Amino acid sequence: MVSDAASHEDFAALAVPDHYRGCLVREDESAMFEGMASRDKDPSKSLHVEDVATPQLGPGEALVAVAASAINFNTVWSALFEPVSTFKFLKRYGRTSEWAARHDQPYHVLGSDLSGVVLRTGPGVTRWRPGDKVVGHCLSVELESPDGHNDTMLDPEQRIWGYETNFGGLAQLAIVKANQLMPKPRHLTWEEAACSGLVNSTAYRQLVSRNGAGMKQGDVVLIWGAGGGLGSYATQLALNGGAIPVCVVSNDAKAQIVRDMGAELVINRAEEDYAFWTDDDRQNPAEWKRFGARIRELTGGEDPDIVLEHPGRTTFGASVFVTRRGGTIVTCASTSGYQHEYDNRYLWMNLKRIVGTHFANYREAWEANRLICKGLVHPTLSTVVGLDDAGAATAAVHRNEHTGKVGVLCLSPGEGFGVEDHETRARLLPEITRFAVQC
Ligand code: NAP
Repeated sequence: MVSDAASHEDFAALAVPDHYRGCLVREDESAMFEGMASRDKDPSKSLHVEDVATPQLGPGEALVAVAASAINFNTVWSALFEPVSTFKFLKRYGRTSEWAARHDQPYHVLGSDLSGVVLRTGPGVTRWRPGDKVVGHCLSVELESPDGHNDTMLDPEQRIWGYETNFGGLAQLAIVKANQLMPKPRHLTWEEAACSGLVNSTAYRQLVSRNGAGMKQGDVVLIWGAGGGLGSYATQLALNGGAIPVCVVSNDAKAQIVRDMGAELVINRAEEDYAFWTDDDRQNPAEWKRFGARIRELTGGEDPDIVLEHPGRTTFGASVFVTRRGGTIVTCASTSGYQHEYDNRYLWMNLKRIVGTHFANYREAWEANRLICKGLVHPTLSTVVGLDDAGAATAAVHRNEHTGKVGVLCLSPGEGFGVEDHETRARLLPEITRFAVQC
């Protein structure tokens, strides 16, 4: 992990320990927050770092020594046991095969990102070998059904690793399918390399891929949460692709950071105090109009071709309203509530489309990682914590106190290790460290 001199043979010769430390939730605590409002639930109470047994490695899998991982919003959902306890996923998966049964445990080791080194590969793996420095993406598929063979996200047995499967990346060791592995960007530290996989791949499919909005040059793209995980990558992808991002954020620091990334059109939603809902049941179309007028003021009269949606219930009515005639609302989440309401007249009369999207297939994740390897998209890592502090870090993400991504050191003994290409790093350092320096 620290030495550049260790060979593939050295890694292959390492003994695999029979247990390891992982950040987990416990099945017997699934009801611990029952009756509480989401905002009052504290992930630092439900997340524990404990020893668990190293599972047997199955066919087509890899055992990875995890250098670093990252907090994702699915870590928050798992820790809140919302919208359902993830043990339901593990039980359902466990029933599907003898190997899947390993995942059905009374504990769930979380984490859908990793950087690290391959320690062992299971039967049938030919592309990767012990000693390979890798990042992992979080798409787990079986591909026995024909349905997933055009787009693996359509596999009926599609799961998000470390959320709907066990043995995730917030741990010293992790089990992944070999087709989750991708090369680690050589100019990044372990913690920088670990933070992009989930959100960058999701934003890539959502915005760039033809499976999502299929963004083109000149498109006006409204990006909710542009200083958060998904949004900080969507902003970079929009700028790289010649689009015109309109970035929505909730404080001046985030406004500054998206401006520094190159976005010129920024809305501070807190300062401008949009209230799209009058109460829990009624929206206020006058506020949608005020928001739309503000976007036009910034763009010189244009409406968004694409709205990158994820806040959900709070913003969805406004998102549908402000999208241009023929434009696309592309949604991957519902942070503020999944029962969306919008005025359908604005959708059908103006021929708008709502597109649902979810993570990314291997090809899309690979393309997204390739942009990072080539230094065309940069990690948005703002904070790094140790594995023991993953619970507190998840609680901060739940409270929306973070910017960009929060990294977690697993086996890496500190920050700054893992860089192989120092020349590229030196050239790109201001971009790579922008969120760490400014937040
Ligand atoms: P994040 O790092 O917390 O960023 C989300 C941003 O959204 C926040 O920074 C916040 O920015 C903004 N936001 C939060 N609540 C809002 C509200 N009510 N109205 C307007 N803006 C709001 O989280 P993330 O990683 O980007 O994930 C966002 C959501 O997408 C989560 O629900 C996550 O589970 C989901 N997701 C889904 C997939 C998938 O594959 N389907 C993949 C990744 C993420 P400001 O406060 O600055 O406006």
